[in-house]
Amino acid sequence: MAKKIAIVIPVYREAKSLQSLYQRLELVTSRFTKYSWEYIFINDGSPDNSYEVLVALAVKDPKIKVLDLSRNFGKEIALTAGVHEATSCDAVICIDADLQHPPELIPRLVYAWEEGAEVVVTVRTSTDREPLLRRWGSSIFYWLINKVSSFEMIPKATDFRLYDQKVVLAFERATERERLFRGIMDWMGFRRVMLEFKADAREHGEAGYSYVKLWSLAINSITSFSLWPLRLTGYLGVLITSGSGLLLLWMVGNNLLTSKTLYTPLAIVVVVNTFLIGIVLMAVGLVALYIGTIHTEVINRPLYLIREKINFESL
Ligand code: UDP
Ligand code: MG
Repeated sequence: MAKKIAIVIPVYREAKSLQSLYQRLELVTSRFTKYSWEYIFINDGSPDNSYEVLVALAVKDPKIKVLDLSRNFGKEIALTAGVHEATSCDAVICIDADLQHPPELIPRLVYAWEEGAEVVVTVRTSTDREPLLRRWGSSIFYWLINKVSSFEMIPKATDFRLYDQKVVLAFERATERERLFRGIMDWMGFRRVMLEFKADAREHGEAGYSYVKLWSLAINSITSFSLWPLRLTGYLGVLITSGSGLLLLWMVGNNLLTSKTLYTPLAIVVVVNTFLIGIVLMAVGLVALYIGTIHTEVINRPLYLIREKINFESL
């Protein structure tokens, strides 16, 4: 039997791109007849008519499977839902629906997989079109997460990747709710190969990730992959306590050595208090972040809910 490769595509407000994405995918996969292909589209609660467009495509082409989530859960969870449906395939390729990931690169991903790679990661070489703030934000994020976590996350790496079935099965065991899809994948390890590509500009619509969403994604990734911020509070506490201790000694010492009172007791108390209040507030803020994560993990809600499944064989 031919090996199966699934292409997993999260869709949110992409009605305009879907047709041309489908055609470009067809051009690529029709040349790879030795594999049997399936396209798993996840409609992530799009407010536009993406779902209708997908259904129309699925009616004509049984290769197309459509997973309709009950509301917008965000790209990370949409990808997760798609990959969970693809566990019977020998490889899974994740690709964005907005045509920023050229489907024409798929053969190179497949070749790398045939040569033994278990994860093929694509890396963007051009981000000229991205706003400066976003580029800076992303470099700071990667610098930080690679400093604080015990595994390597590749900067500029995209979600456009191929995963071997082994990786997809392992991924099923990741149960955290606050998730950065590629963060979990990077954490898992496996044999990785990197491929560079030039990102195209978005053809239709606008990017669904606002700065606010990106910020919370970054914070979630850091708190779910590392305890370093919590430790940092400890270090900061030590630093501030010793610093203010020395300052205090200096002030008290000066007062004792000179006949005049240089620093009033009130000044000394104010210095001490300001530092202590700072420490306490920061500690509380950080602990709150972790408690937030624990909270969402403990609730143990289902990660997503599916409204409809089209073209999936029913068991
Ligand atoms: N997406 C999604 N749910 C969302 C936002 C985006 O499924 O809530 C999909 C979107 O349709 C696209 C991919 O995720 O296929 C990447 O989205 P976008 O282009 O907005 O992000 P960026 O390119 O900035 O990473
Ligand atoms: Mg995009």
